[in-house]
This record gives sequence, C-alpha cells and structure tokens, in this order.
Amino acid sequence: MIELPPLQRSRRSVFFDRDGVINHSPGTGYVLSPDEFILAEGIGSLLKWLHNRGWLAIIVTSQRCVGKEIIDLSMLGSIHRCMQEGLKDRYGSNFDAIYAFTDLPGTKSWSKPAAGMIVQACKDHFIDPLESIMIGDQDRDIEMAQNANIGCTIRIFDREENRPKLTKADECVGSIDQMIDRLKSIIIQKT
Ligand SMILES: [Mg+2]
Repeated sequence: MIELPPLQRSRRSVFFDRDGVINHSPGTGYVLSPDEFILAEGIGSLLKWLHNRGWLAIIVTSQRCVGKEIIDLSMLGSIHRCMQEGLKDRYGSNFDAIYAFTDLPGTKSWSKPAAGMIVQACKDHFIDPLESIMIGDQDRDIEMAQNANIGCTIRIFDREENRPKLTKADECVGSIDQMIDRLKSIIIQKT
C-alpha cells in the first residue's frame, strides 16, 4: 500500500446535497434541464470562500430521474456542466466534484442513506470524513453522512412548521442564507 503524505490524508470537504441546498428545490419533481436549475443566492461566493481556506466543496446528490428514464445521463451531465461553467465564469470557483446516484444498475451502494458516494469521494480526494461537514435538507442526507463518519451535519428545513422535532443533525437552520452563515462560523472555529 502506498503511504500518502500527511497533507493529502487530511483534506477537508463540505459535502452538499443538491436540490434544496445549493439550488431551489423542484418540490416532489426533478430538475429536468439547465433552464430549470436555479442556483441559490450566495452559493457562488461561498465556494470561493471555502477554496480560499483550503476546503473542498463536493456535491452528493440522488437523481433517480435518470433511472426512471425521465431524463438521460447526458442531460444530467448538461445540467451540471452549465452550473459549473456559470460558477467558474461568475465567481472563479466551482464544485471540486459531483457524485450522483442515478438508480441505474450497479449504483445501489450510492443510494442514500448508504455511505457509498461519500466513501468514494473521500478515497478519490484524500478527504478525512471526521474533519468534514455535510449539509442536507432531508433525513437521508444526514443519515448518509453519519454512516460515512462525517464529523458535523447541518440540516436545512424549509418552513418553521416543518422543523424536524427529532432530527439527528448536529445543527438545524431555517434557510440557505442561514446555512451559509452557520457553515462559515463552524469553519472559522475549526481553523
Ligand atoms: Mg435535497
């Protein structure tokens, strides 16, 4: 086995669920084209802020619409390519990687709340999960992170009446704006 230098073993990442966390939630449906993908205010500058502090930013998303044949893999790729190019042009930073569970055959180990996507990302990018953070808007996001030994979890809930009474997340916030503020203060404490 190749021994990695300490620096490569200890990279830190913020893992983001996609819909409802970095872009406006499509509700019970799916984002079907680049036009329907509406990036939330503040995410572009957050990426720049994270990269300036040496953190990675990685998306871990479930896109069952591909397995259900509502869109194909190439459309999912176009949605992500447009997002990445738009972010790069406007903010000079974009996501370091995107892992998507599509429910196509052979991808079952990536189905939330299984840890598969995060485990793969940690291997690919030499990330220490215990030093990393997960942000999601569903219980299964938080459970996936805990199954992958992520050190800190933040759950976004959309309205006060939906605030989870018994969430397993370490922190709860009421909006994407609040998530950005809370995330920054957690990272400043860790630095
Ligand atoms: Mg979501």
